[in-house]
Amino acid sequence: MIGTTTVAISGGGPAGVLLGLLLARQGVEVTVLEKHADFLRDFRGDTVHPSTQLILQELGLLEEFQGIVRGRIGGVDFGTSDGPLVRADLARVHPRHPFHEIALAPQWDLLDLLVRHANQYPTFGIVMEAETTDALFAAGSVRGVRYRKDGRDHELRAVLTIDAEGRGSGLRESIGTELLRFGVPIDVLWFRVPRLPDDASDLRGVLGHGGVVVAINREDYWQIALLVRKGSADEVRAAGLPTFRQRVGSIAPWLQGRLDAIDDWDQVKLLSVAIERLRRWSAPGILAIGDAAHTMSPVGGVGINLAVADAVATSNLLGPSLLRAQRDPGRFAKTLNPALLERVQRRRGAATAITQRIQVAAQNRIIEMVDSPEDRRLTPPAPVRMLLQSVAAQAVPRVFAYGLRPERVALRPQDEVAARAKAPVS
Ligand SMILES: Cc1cc2nc3c(=O)[nH]c(=O)nc-3n(C[C@H](O)[C@H](O)[C@H](O)COP(=O)(O)OP(=O)(O)OC[C@H]3O[C@@H](n4cnc5c(N)ncnc54)[C@H](O)[C@@H]3O)c2cc1C
Repeated sequence: MIGTTTVAISGGGPAGVLLGLLLARQGVEVTVLEKHADFLRDFRGDTVHPSTQLILQELGLLEEFQGIVRGRIGGVDFGTSDGPLVRADLARVHPRHPFHEIALAPQWDLLDLLVRHANQYPTFGIVMEAETTDALFAAGSVRGVRYRKDGRDHELRAVLTIDAEGRGSGLRESIGTELLRFGVPIDVLWFRVPRLPDDASDLRGVLGHGGVVVAINREDYWQIALLVRKGSADEVRAAGLPTFRQRVGSIAPWLQGRLDAIDDWDQVKLLSVAIERLRRWSAPGILAIGDAAHTMSPVGGVGINLAVADAVATSNLLGPSLLRAQRDPGRFAKTLNPALLERVQRRRGAATAITQRIQVAAQNRIIEMVDSPEDRRLTPPAPVRMLLQSVAAQAVPRVFAYGLRPERVALRPQDEVAARAKAPVS
């Protein structure tokens, strides 16, 4: 079957669904294709940073969003197994911002909320269990996608195709560019342990010999990430669960006693960490955003938030041109000006690259310390600690939680009219 739309978005993650909503809100016809039947994925990113909360507020979704928040983080404590090191309070990191907490909301609930809201716009469409197989080309330009649904092949012609397929994107091959890979020395093992009523509520990171433990407060449990040297997960498993529990407990002694809750390796999931970036995010007729354009490390929990920022920038920069193109009866035989698509990377590229550089530096430093001899104290001398507290504990959380180049949702013509009507007459 052959269908048509103005924008075909392959991938219903945070980048694809939010972009669909934002474009449909402007009147652009959008079809999102998602290969899964629902959004349920365990251990996916769910740290919704202040930068994203502001965007949800601008879209009038904040109240509904509060209903799906399962925890909040107002500060970050980072220490070593020798003792505390630095603490960052988000309220002090960016006092003028309206939001000072990282909200924890299951990614599937957030996506359901966005789709519910997007569905009220007649130009929004989402097809579940629809897997994109390749791009449709004409005259050297991508003109839509081919996808499989219900065991059949379909074609969706589009003025613009968005690759929002995430870190394993197959569609990005059609951009024909290099995938830059940055040395990543870590992998992450994720698991849950019970949280006690008297436990602290902030995010806690502890650096020890043998790994880093990051504990994220999920109200009734801690989601724990154990950062280990890349490729060592099999070794960790081979050593057995008692050794694993002992390793975690020796890095974060406050978790001892509850680690017995881990009694099966099925409870421990491996995230193979990658930091990658496309050299070019677009080609005629196609643009990659979110993880498809730049896979982030879990350090700083920025993945969703950068995907959201890409979606907002894309909608702001391309929405009006797409609306104009939509009115042209010959649109499916034409190529949208490629320079327009390049503007998205020009806007988002530098902030993304710098954030990735900070992640690489942080990971390298972490692994260097984790691998240091057992008798070496991990806590640096007092002057270094003071420097870390005054610089790193303020600047790094600011970059991660608020973003280097935050995006705001552009007003639509009807919003501007409403804003003028509300403004007091002088
Ligand atoms: C284990 C884990 C933990 C993470 N923790 C955090 C965290 O705490 N905080 C944070 O901010 N980020 C975290 N991330 C990263 C975060 O989840 C991603 O950065 C974010 O989801 C990227 O959004 P996206 O929309 O670009 O891609 P994704 O969320 O990956 O969405 C891509 C979508 O495309 C669909 N898809 C793929 N191929 C096709 C196809 N051929 N046809 C149709 N659909 C397709 C997929 O099913 C998926 O729904 C984590 C990631 C993982 C894997």
